[in-house]
Amino acid sequence: MSGFVFFREKQLALRIAAAWPFHKTVAGAVRAVLAEEIQRAGSLDEVHLYFENPCAQACEFCEEPRRRGQFPSRHLASLLLRAQELGLDLVGSGALAALVDTLMDLEPKVPLTITGHDWTRHPRRPEILAALERRPDARLRLQGPSLGFSSPELTRRVAALPGLEWIATTLQSSDAAEHDAMVGAPGAHAELLAALDNLKAARVPLVLTVVLSRRALRTLPETLSFLAARRLSVSLQAFIPDEAMGPAFDVLAPLDELRRALERAPREALLAIHSVVGVPPCAAPALLRRKIAPAHRMKGREGARFGAGCGTCAARGRCSGVPSSYFVALGARGMEPLASTD
Ligand code: SF4
Repeated sequence: MSGFVFFREKQLALRIAAAWPFHKTVAGAVRAVLAEEIQRAGSLDEVHLYFENPCAQACEFCEEPRRRGQFPSRHLASLLLRAQELGLDLVGSGALAALVDTLMDLEPKVPLTITGHDWTRHPRRPEILAALERRPDARLRLQGPSLGFSSPELTRRVAALPGLEWIATTLQSSDAAEHDAMVGAPGAHAELLAALDNLKAARVPLVLTVVLSRRALRTLPETLSFLAARRLSVSLQAFIPDEAMGPAFDVLAPLDELRRALERAPREALLAIHSVVGVPPCAAPALLRRKIAPAHRMKGREGARFGAGCGTCAARGRCSGVPSSYFVALGARGMEPLASTD
């Protein structure tokens, strides 16, 4: 994962606060933190900044075990909001603007991905946008539930960012009730479809994802057909939990069920798939295997594991395996060594 850096809002704010006494300015402290990361990783190709405002969804596939399937407590949510409203955060301190400047002053410029619990509902959204608008040369990518784009005004403002490369969001099912159940928020499907219409009208490059939870497989063929009919390309993402698996065993998709769901999808729907991330080649039809990419291995994420039969598999050298918890929950189920990678 050399060159990929993932910052959480609070953690980065604390690192900047720790560096500040030695560098005297927020911008100097931001540069020092990035220099540490470059030294650690050897290079800097991409930075993700994860905003931690209280989420309006409670997704079953959330990477954070303590948030998976449940909203934050009212007390925690109000504390987080108050801290952000008071400016005790990256945005209010000017650190976000300094981060954008530093990344864009590097040669070559390093893209910044804004992500996290729906950042479009961050209480300091106007300041976030102002920090991104300051640098017309910024390479920007935005991801998250992004339901705020159900507002045409916000969509137009974001679409006007000169360096916007893409916006990514997640559709779990073409079926409204199924989608809403998986993201734990009634009405989310309708809001997301409105957001997709606005983003399409504004000609924003869109990256749609389906997180391959077990429940998403129930309607996966229909969801893929729904997206292909609307000429929306999709990336399929394996569910890879943090180390603390918690009660998410039911969320893991058995590889044989995933394979069957993909085999049920029409060929045109499979052709519309842009990429398949973190999925072993044996779980995908041949048509999709060349679209498989490894998942980012972030600190805290579970390591990769292989089954006893994997040593004989033709894909072994380029397969990223399954998370450790897959073995605990499902053993080597569905791992079927391939005779060839064609
Ligand atoms: S059999 Fe093992 S090595 Fe081969 S694709 Fe499946 S998980 Fe990967």
